[in-house]
Amino acid sequence: MVTIFLPPENHQPLEPESTFRFHCHPGLACFNQCCQQPTIILKPYDILRLRRRLGITSTAFLARYTVRIMEEAAHLPLRLLALRAGDPGGCPFVDAATGCTVYDDRPAACRLFPVIQGSSWHGDQAREVYFLKKLDFCQGFANGPTWTLGQWRIDQDLAEYEELNQEWVDILLQQTARLSATGSAPGVQPFELAVYDLDAFRRFVLETAFAAKYALPPSLAELLGQDDTALLRLGYAYARLVLGLADTPALQAALENLAALAPGS
Ligand code: SF4
Ligand code: SF4
Repeated sequence: MVTIFLPPENHQPLEPESTFRFHCHPGLACFNQCCQQPTIILKPYDILRLRRRLGITSTAFLARYTVRIMEEAAHLPLRLLALRAGDPGGCPFVDAATGCTVYDDRPAACRLFPVIQGSSWHGDQAREVYFLKKLDFCQGFANGPTWTLGQWRIDQDLAEYEELNQEWVDILLQQTARLSATGSAPGVQPFELAVYDLDAFRRFVLETAFAAKYALPPSLAELLGQDDTALLRLGYAYARLVLGLADTPALQAALENLAALAPGS
């Protein structure tokens, strides 16, 4: 079975009916401590939200706030949140007094914490596995409401993040499954462009031969020029094509689905 992001320790999975008590708030002695040395893999929708929040391009965001590493099994690049050097170090978005300065746009991993998520591939679909991570210094488990996993995900407003990041998880898992059989990895750079660097991908879609090759109608070009979420959906379809996980008709079908969302369609 192919898996990604499972914790190294022998953690017990958090079952849907399992409960945990948790309350994180300013005033705890540990407040902000978990933001000092976090290991956060930024997913495509995390990057989209953060760079929009900061008002900078995806290219600038990737250069300033991320570190590129390779996910070995999938042979695809990941983007880790780059930590601030010096004293105080830690997440570049943590403020000692007020906490997270990008709270409404914080990454999915920060929303889900103290739950962490791994994924496995089962022939034709991904299955998510969840674990509780109890950091030694974390006082959030000492009191507070009782949560099921489902209640926690709703409370942390994860639905949009999960929906828009799932395709990325599926691609990593499918690529891992395929590479374990074939050992080849085409399309790494176009994948990176299409899922992480959306501003550069937008230029590729609208300002190169791509637009003519796929006969983009003006209304769809307008949508892709303005709507980051629509562009990310196209990015996933294009990533699948360049990695050899889907064919050209699949990309054309994705374009038709997006064209139906365009103004005036
Ligand atoms: S993004 Fe916010 S919640 Fe996440 S590590 Fe940074 S400061 Fe903490
Ligand atoms: S309670 Fe846990 S999650 Fe909240 S600030 Fe403290 S260490 Fe971080």
